[in-house]
Amino acid sequence: MFFKSSKINEFRLWGLLLTLIGMGLMIFGTSGILLWGQTGKIFAGIFMVFGMIFMMGSMAIYFWAGMLSTSAVLLQCPECDRPTKMLGKTDRCMFCKTKLTLDPNQATHSPSGEPEPSKV
Ligand SMILES: [Zn+2]
Repeated sequence: MFFKSSKINEFRLWGLLLTLIGMGLMIFGTSGILLWGQTGKIFAGIFMVFGMIFMMGSMAIYFWAGMLSTSAVLLQCPECDRPTKMLGKTDRCMFCKTKLTLDPNQATHSPSGEPEPSKV
């Protein structure tokens, strides 16, 4: 959790970042051909490979996020009343970043209607 956003949004962000890094590396590598001609082609080749690795990494993250979002729990956020998705037992709302949990032991308050767990 680096950006204090929901997990699905964070996966998308990392996927996008890796795609941009990969594309940037490929463009940087191609500029080597323009600068050094024949020797630049080796340089470009190396950067192409690294660019491809980053692009494949981002595809893997997108694929993983897609797999995870199928198992995500759809619920209505108690703070902003918008439908959001949760991954795992605790996650943040995709819109208002409120921390949400399915674990009653971690919850600070229960949604209205449900009885509070009484400890005697
Ligand atoms: Zn919300």
